[in-house]
Amino acid sequence: LLRGDLDGEELEAYVQSRIITTTLDKAVAWARGNAMFPATFGLACCAIEMMSIVAARVDVARFGFEAFRASPRQADLLILSGRVSIKMAPVVRRVYDQMLEPKWAIAMGACSSSMGVFNNYAIVPADKFMPVDIHVPGCPPRPEALMHGILKLRQQIQLDPALGWRSRYG
Ligand code: SF4
Repeated sequence: LLRGDLDGEELEAYVQSRIITTTLDKAVAWARGNAMFPATFGLACCAIEMMSIVAARVDVARFGFEAFRASPRQADLLILSGRVSIKMAPVVRRVYDQMLEPKWAIAMGACSSSMGVFNNYAIVPADKFMPVDIHVPGCPPRPEALMHGILKLRQQIQLDPALGWRSRYG
């Protein structure tokens, strides 16, 4: 049966199955979710696992995230790859504040999420000084686990275009 032979309900069903309607917000969120630029920022041992996501085995470039940026002004994803000390927390917060919106943060590893094995006064969980969108468990998490977290974040960004606009939507 050729397309030209269709008419009536069959033609309508054919056309509807080939048309996608969306809103501009959703289209932009789809594009953003597929082109995040992480900040080049490592904190501790987890950073070694983070670095390996750009290598051939995991190859984050497949998903459009390979462009790690040295300036927070050019980055929209902060991966907290390791423990944050009390002294380092204001520095991390400053890097985060310098990133333009929309921006997102991933706490990678037990230390940045919950202090991990460091049950002492010198380490602070990321949630205490900045907003975190995704927590990736592990000590350290495997690169595949970080990729899973990044893809979960991508899914959230695409479902909720307001995610990451901290000053606009709180
Ligand atoms: Fe190091 Fe484990 Fe803490 Fe990561 S979670 S920074 S690997 S001690």
